[in-house]
Amino acid sequence: MKKINIIDTALEYKKLKTKIDNSVFNVLKSGVYINGPEVEKFELELSEFLNVKHCISCANGTDALKIALLSLGLSQGDEILVPSFTFVSTVEVVVLLGFKPVFVDVDFRTFLIDIDSVKKNINKKTRVIIPVHLFGQPVNMKEIMLISKKHNLWVVEDAAQSLGSQFYIKNKSNQFFPKQYTGTIGHIGTTSFYPTKNLNCFGDGGALFTNNRSLAKKIRLIKNHGQVQKYTYEKVGLNSRLDAIQAAILRVKLKKLRQSNNKRRSHARIYNSKLKNIKEIFTPQILTVIESHIFHQYTLIVRDKKNRDPLKDFLIKNGVSTMIYYPRPLHKEKPYSNFASSSQKSSEELSKKVLSLPIHPLLSRKDVEFISELIIKFFKS
Ligand SMILES: *Cc1c(COP(=O)(O)O)cnc(C)c1O
Repeated sequence: MKKINIIDTALEYKKLKTKIDNSVFNVLKSGVYINGPEVEKFELELSEFLNVKHCISCANGTDALKIALLSLGLSQGDEILVPSFTFVSTVEVVVLLGFKPVFVDVDFRTFLIDIDSVKKNINKKTRVIIPVHLFGQPVNMKEIMLISKKHNLWVVEDAAQSLGSQFYIKNKSNQFFPKQYTGTIGHIGTTSFYPTKNLNCFGDGGALFTNNRSLAKKIRLIKNHGQVQKYTYEKVGLNSRLDAIQAAILRVKLKKLRQSNNKRRSHARIYNSKLKNIKEIFTPQILTVIESHIFHQYTLIVRDKKNRDPLKDFLIKNGVSTMIYYPRPLHKEKPYSNFASSSQKSSEELSKKVLSLPIHPLLSRKDVEFISELIIKFFKS
């Protein structure tokens, strides 16, 4: 039986082996393993790709969020709006730094932070909104930026799952919102290069983006021990660096990002068309246009939660691995439950109903069709 994995990082390496081997060995031979030309070139190339003024690399996506919040001059107890349905880092860093996370529910069909709930949760203590472009789809950044302006709030975009997706509104007369990459629209954007992300390396890595020069300066200072120059410290900082070897790998992979995101989209189109008539599931809802979504995950909603785990088991039996992102909303997790002030209906329901299918760029069209046929078969029998 053929096995289809949800992700296949070794195969990605095999495809790019010669180029990656050369880049890695060049770094090894150079003797420059920390900072240096590979890291600088990668930051420049990624900022050009995203059309953003400043790209600052760091050790991982969680650090990127931490550094972003540290750069905003917040006070202990300041409130930060976070979605309750996301990866833990988004909330973890808020608590770790002594700020107060305020959980906001997500929209049931898009998995994205619910704009009306954002508005309802703003009060005098609110300082920051962290929209997460979950599964690769941009949050409605037009609405978020309008709210930010109105209430004078910082916006830190968590683009760990969305690198290469562009937010835009179809309506051509909309002057306020041209096409822009997620992570470059808010005051700061953050991302991760963890091996399963759309732009990934073979270890840990992360980055921050901003168009604001003074924030960029602060971010560079904080990620490097708060140093203004060697052994002169202005702030308490941290040590958060992207390895030169990882930067060299990322330079090779960045050249393939557009192509691999397109591949994910074409897989999504196949799933959409094959699965659209199954009444027992919802396929992912697209907020604006399919081109804006990079399908970090292709996540189904199984309408009757009783069917979810049997479907997962059926696919496993047929060689197809799937994942549940996420099995519990964060306000139900032990370290964060004391911050839960209201129920988060959609997040709670989704955690029992979601199932993410394989969608990585190295799957073939046949693989995607095979998985779709299995799902059709499951609901027919
Ligand atoms: C992966 C991820 C992170 C954290 O990235 P790391 O590099 O693993 O620290 C943060 N937020 C979201 C939404 C993620 O998916």
